[in-house]
Amino acid sequence: MHLSKFNVQVPLPERNEVFLMNTFSDAQLLAPAGLTGLLDRIARGESAFTAQEHETVDTLLDNGFLVQSPEEERAALDLYFRDLREDTGQLRVTVLTTLQCNFACEYCFQGDHGDHNKFAEKMSLETAARVVDWIAGRLDEVRPEKFVLTLFGGEPLLNLPVAYDLAERCQRECERRGVRQIISLITNGLLLTPEVVDRLTPYGLSGVKITLDGDRETHNRMRPLRGRQGTFDRIIENVRRVADKVAVTIGGNFDESSADSYPALLDFLREQDFAGKIAKVNFKPVIKPFDQAAAPKGVIPLTVVGDGGKPLNGTCMTTAGAGALTGSGVCDSCHFADEKMAFLRSETRKRGFPTPDGVHMGPCEIHRRHAHTIGPDGSLYACPGFTGSKTESTGHIEWRAEEWRAAAAARFERLSPRKDECADCSFVPVCGGGCSVAAHTELGDMHRPSCHKGAFESAVFSLAERTATEVAVGAGPQAFG
Ligand code: SF4
Ligand code: SF4
Repeated sequence: MHLSKFNVQVPLPERNEVFLMNTFSDAQLLAPAGLTGLLDRIARGESAFTAQEHETVDTLLDNGFLVQSPEEERAALDLYFRDLREDTGQLRVTVLTTLQCNFACEYCFQGDHGDHNKFAEKMSLETAARVVDWIAGRLDEVRPEKFVLTLFGGEPLLNLPVAYDLAERCQRECERRGVRQIISLITNGLLLTPEVVDRLTPYGLSGVKITLDGDRETHNRMRPLRGRQGTFDRIIENVRRVADKVAVTIGGNFDESSADSYPALLDFLREQDFAGKIAKVNFKPVIKPFDQAAAPKGVIPLTVVGDGGKPLNGTCMTTAGAGALTGSGVCDSCHFADEKMAFLRSETRKRGFPTPDGVHMGPCEIHRRHAHTIGPDGSLYACPGFTGSKTESTGHIEWRAEEWRAAAAARFERLSPRKDECADCSFVPVCGGGCSVAAHTELGDMHRPSCHKGAFESAVFSLAERTATEVAVGAGPQAFG
């Protein structure tokens, strides 16, 4: 009998207890602090226990805190990752309907800056029809129960004809095959109207994610229109108008200059009549081009990849890799980066909004074989974070036999959520080595881990404290031992 490699312990000295979590089985327990001594004895190979200890040992075994052998546990984790990779329960496709954007965000070089929109790609209706043909082929091949279509950009609502066309045609293909279609929309919110929601709802629209970058003043500074006009009021009004119709997730991008304005934003949201309708609130650091020497103060250096180490040139930098919609976002795991998030999560929770716990983060979508991203020209990518670089395209909807795409596909095929460098890290099951885009850009090798272990540790610490509080009021897991 051995301790699981994936146990995480948080001592709670003021309660004389310990919080124990296993990141693989997801079991969580609050136990008397004396449990640590028992675990130490088991780690040393002792096997003589009192009757009461035997009961505890059985509970620990049942919950995955103890395992029969490290080899068995390793094999079980490999199987888990393999099943995740090969999962055919859902086919997930993110479509970038356009790379144009109507915002001129301070931190984003895309959008309505200079002549970006003049040259930014926009999907044509002809390409959209071919995208649907490609998706139909995948539906036949994968035979999923669920098809998740995420409309993304740029600003996807700048190409409504394609958004509607994709939704309708894909729905027909799904209906023919008895597949349930779910649509997620990631938008800056400026053009989000009840009409858009009403039009997409019959085709399975289940959630909309919009971005607010702090309180009114901060958001208007961070996310203005080209003429510097603010966008906050209009977005809030749009959310108010659609909140009864669709689940809305609020995302936000913070840097050191804006993070402290988020509590005021949360207070503002709490006071709104639609507060109870917000499905999730989920903030993450601004993704900035990574140039350590030139990085302005306060920038958190997490970068989305571009050719030759240049920053992202594809998806919207504010949402690529952002936590998006409940269980169906483009990427719900790319907010590994910063301790500030622990503070913002706690502020979010204090106001009663659901938010990710920071522990259950991955492995991300890039490790699923049946998750794809399609650019406006029909190029295929392993995840939205790689769309800035054509050389990372893994294929094309027209099955073009191009060597360079085949080479990229082979590189991604080798991508594993189990990195050698991670060794026996307790967070492997919920991390999978972190964001491959960040690893590619920052470390020059997407196969290396992009490690934010500190963020996991502080998230477990918060989880322990919350669990202890909930148990104290009778709402959390039971203590034992
Ligand atoms: S590799 Fe990074 S950007 Fe891509 S899906 Fe994973 S966490 Fe998100
Ligand atoms: S990247 Fe870091 S936190 Fe994630 S599994 Fe590897 S060592 Fe652990």
